[in-house]
Amino acid sequence: MSDINEHIGTSDRPKSESDSHHFDATQEDILIVDDIPENLRLLSTMLVKQGYNVRKALSGHMALKAVQTVIPDLILLDIMMPSMTGYEVCEKLKSDPKTASIPVIFLSALSESLDKVKAFGVGGADYITKPFQLEEVLLRVQNQLALRAAKIKNKQLNSELERRVQERTRELEVANEDLTREIGERRLLEDKLLKMAFSDALTGLPNRVLFTQRLEEVLNRANKDSTYQFAVLFLDCDRFKIVNDSLGHFVGDELLVALAGRLEATLLEGDTLARMGGDEFAILLNNIENINTATQVAEQILKALSFPFELKRQKVFINASIGITLGNLNYERPEHLLRDADTAMYRAKTLGKGQYRIFDPAMHDAALQVLHLETDLRKAVNQQEFTVHYQPIVALDSGSIVGFEALVRWYHPQRGMVSPVLFIPIAEETGLINPIGNFVLREACHQLRLWHQEKLTDYPLTMSVNISARQFAQPNLIEQIDQILGETQLAPQSLKLEITESAIMDNATSATAILQQLRERQVQLSIDDFGTGYSSLSYLHSFPVDNIKIDRSFVQRLDVNPDNVGLVPAIISIARALGMSAIAEGIETTEQLGQLRTLNCDFGQGYLFSKPLPAKQATDLIASAPQW
Ligand code: C2E
Ligand code: MG
Ligand code: MG
Repeated sequence: MSDINEHIGTSDRPKSESDSHHFDATQEDILIVDDIPENLRLLSTMLVKQGYNVRKALSGHMALKAVQTVIPDLILLDIMMPSMTGYEVCEKLKSDPKTASIPVIFLSALSESLDKVKAFGVGGADYITKPFQLEEVLLRVQNQLALRAAKIKNKQLNSELERRVQERTRELEVANEDLTREIGERRLLEDKLLKMAFSDALTGLPNRVLFTQRLEEVLNRANKDSTYQFAVLFLDCDRFKIVNDSLGHFVGDELLVALAGRLEATLLEGDTLARMGGDEFAILLNNIENINTATQVAEQILKALSFPFELKRQKVFINASIGITLGNLNYERPEHLLRDADTAMYRAKTLGKGQYRIFDPAMHDAALQVLHLETDLRKAVNQQEFTVHYQPIVALDSGSIVGFEALVRWYHPQRGMVSPVLFIPIAEETGLINPIGNFVLREACHQLRLWHQEKLTDYPLTMSVNISARQFAQPNLIEQIDQILGETQLAPQSLKLEITESAIMDNATSATAILQQLRERQVQLSIDDFGTGYSSLSYLHSFPVDNIKIDRSFVQRLDVNPDNVGLVPAIISIARALGMSAIAEGIETTEQLGQLRTLNCDFGQGYLFSKPLPAKQATDLIASAPQW
């Protein structure tokens, strides 16, 4: 062991290999502070032997310096030292957080008066009195070290515990975050599915399901609150099929989206716009004053549709027919509201499209009648309840009959005569027009052939037969005409087919080819009801047409004011310019006849000459060779 004076603050380590207490990092470090070297040596020797790492200090100052380099596990501190007492040293140690927890055992001589209260007061852990009894010193040292170790262990355990609690808390937080995220994602998915179930994929608008739900809500509300008023509008595009067929489905879709936007712009918050499928939309006007609100919205919509849609590649016009029903008609089911709005829409369509109509219960009866008619019409086809009547067509210059128009008649077993104005549209819709039309064509050709054979006139009479849009679209139309002409042996140039402008426009792509084939057979072609439909002059000269039939409505206006001849002269000069002849329909008065003659109209037809007649009477009429 080195001299104490040179080794203050340095450590005495067990040197002997045989010594069981080797120094290692975990070896406890004890600092002994005493101004008497003999005491230091004595204690140090004993503790080193026990395996402790021991450092020594001869004064309080030295001790304070020593603890700065390495913090000892225990300090044995003499009280009575010359420059700084043990109490003072202890106080200093306790006031520094770094050293405050080092246990201090005071050493005091029996001769000195030990102030135990002060010793503990300044933070001492224990005390030993001199002369030392080594066993006692060792015991107290071991006690304090054990206590300190326990404290450290406790602290470690505490911080470990705290760490684990924190870790677990974090884990829980993460789990909680995951759960929250999962719930959020699930909710998003649910929202998405819900949206899909209730909205239209193309326009993003509510669909039929959601709209029906809304209707149920307002019906409930109307039941509870008698002042609450609402209306349902049903809208269907006119001729949307033409857009789809001629411009393609992409343009059709683009148009529907744009249309939805325009419709939405006319509505207020609280109203619901839904796409019901195809080109059909429905609107629920919530909380309205009266029917005027609904008609104003309908008018706004029709006005909004009078401007073209500027799509990506082209401008497109689209019109719509609108049916309105008010929520106060004792409705119970949403379907009934939709049914009636739809019926009113249908009425608007048959009245000429681009209009709105308000539902009234009579329409429902009419719709029911249509249903009955449809059933009866099927039977009529099987039971041959149809006949053909013939109305003469007169050359206005000579005043004699040049031909006839064949007009179908249906004698219903219970209802009697049903007007073609009523049943032709139903026959069109159901496709029954094909067998009916075929019957009329065969019958009329057969009749004309008979008249030709009877030689009632010294010139060949012609026969005009109406061909509806649906018939015109029939792929085997030409074949059927060929067959009937063959069967009846009729000269094709005596046959005139009457078709409307819309029938041509609805089949614009195939029309040219069909008309060309008819021309090759020398079958003539007339545009029926000219001026009431599409009236696009641009197509007229591109189709091989022979005659224009001026609609009755123009002819009847001639009467109202003889000076105001309206559009008739214009139509006649168009016909002239295109090398066609003009036929005036529905001449009822001699004044009309006179004016048409002045205007150089070629032919005329109307009650003034004759109503449509059964074959027998028509034959008699021809035979009487009338002159007007
Ligand atoms: P449309 O082809 O324009 O036929 C003329 C209609 O006007 C006929 O009505 C005729 O009776 C009526 N009419 C003729 N002169 C006068 C007149 O001076 N005053 C008035 N107020 N009316 C007159 P109808 O026979 O009731 O036929 C109505 C429509 O039904 C026809 O109009 C035609 O579009 C359609 N139709 C009639 N028969 C057939 C047919 O066999 N096939 C097809 N596809 N449609 C037919
Ligand atoms: Mg006709
Ligand atoms: Mg007509």
